Amino acid sequence: MGILGGGQLGRMFTIAARTMGYKVVVLDPDFASPAGQMADVHLQADYTDHGALRQLGAACAAVTTEFENVPAASLIELAKHCRVSPGAQCVAIAQDRSHEKSWLAQNGFATAPFALVYSEGDLDAGLADTGTPAILKVARFGYDGKGQARVNTREEARAAFREFGEQPCVLEGFVKLEREVSVVLARDDAGECALFPVAENRHENGILDVSIVPARVPDSLARQARDMARDIAGKLGYVGVMAVEFFVADGRLMVNEIAPRPHNSGHYTLDACVTDQFEQQVRVLCGLPLGDTRLLSPVAMVNILGDRWHDGGPHWDALLAHPNVKLHLYGKETARPGRKMGHFNVLDADVEAALQLAEQMRGAL
Ligand code: ADP
Ligand code: MG
Repeated sequence: MGILGGGQLGRMFTIAARTMGYKVVVLDPDFASPAGQMADVHLQADYTDHGALRQLGAACAAVTTEFENVPAASLIELAKHCRVSPGAQCVAIAQDRSHEKSWLAQNGFATAPFALVYSEGDLDAGLADTGTPAILKVARFGYDGKGQARVNTREEARAAFREFGEQPCVLEGFVKLEREVSVVLARDDAGECALFPVAENRHENGILDVSIVPARVPDSLARQARDMARDIAGKLGYVGVMAVEFFVADGRLMVNEIAPRPHNSGHYTLDACVTDQFEQQVRVLCGLPLGDTRLLSPVAMVNILGDRWHDGGPHWDALLAHPNVKLHLYGKETARPGRKMGHFNVLDADVEAALQLAEQMRGAL
């Protein structure tokens, strides 16, 4: 198996693949990549390096990706040599917010009001569509809330657009969120879908902080989220693991974004489901039957960011001593504020108790 990208998602894919007996090649330019440490072979090269792509394609039966910013051209190149999933056209939609939002709207999926912004001149009409406050988001390469600015006036919108170097952006109306939820799913060549339970997500400064599963929403809303995620995957002709993030406002769902890969909000599956999202990625990539996505226990997942590494790092003792808690660290050498260093899952028969314990454990770090 091959994977483009060597971050924590690639690392957990690599572990899952090796657990199932596969050998793994990771392509990532960073010599200290978390996935490279776990791989049989780490090709340390750029994602557009023709030689490295040829080597990857020749060595692997199938290649997938752990991040959406892979150049579509690299996936097309690889597909000449081996099986590639997800396909280049799906990644191209998900990696550009303007394509993504337009595709969702054209296919009848509710989103926050939005406008595409290519020049300063688009901002006035855009703000008239979205109202204020609004969020200006760069169309490409934004993640964890980076490349986003909340704006209240046209002057603020202009200033933000200039600050982003006048690159293409999407302007979005600011939604009064009741909640955020997400669905991770896998879809195979035959169009068969396996959906994981709906996660309820809390963000802190635009970065996922906690996922709570099952999401504390009415059954009808959870069903709707899963149906919409399945429809999106179907209409995209998607093959692989993907995630759909939703906003909940006034009891209704809006699609926020699509990730063409496993997702941070699916890390709970590592300890709480029969099959986790990374094993599922291996299965769908290899054309194996999709695994059982059944939830074995309510769970709360907490991200551990680099912010906690002042004075020699977190105190793991309480967390490791607790029978309901499972710790996952990504092997990153350097901690930086906002950098995802690991996560932990807290299992409990009662979801509220899991959340409460998760908060207590975070406090103890
Ligand atoms: P990223 O790629 O960084 O995850 P998102 O568009 O998902 O970008 O934004 C990150 C978070 O910021 C969201 O999960 C949500 O909490 C908040 N957010 C983004 N867009 C909006 C919006 N239009 N209205 C309200 N909150 C938003
Ligand atoms: Mg997001």
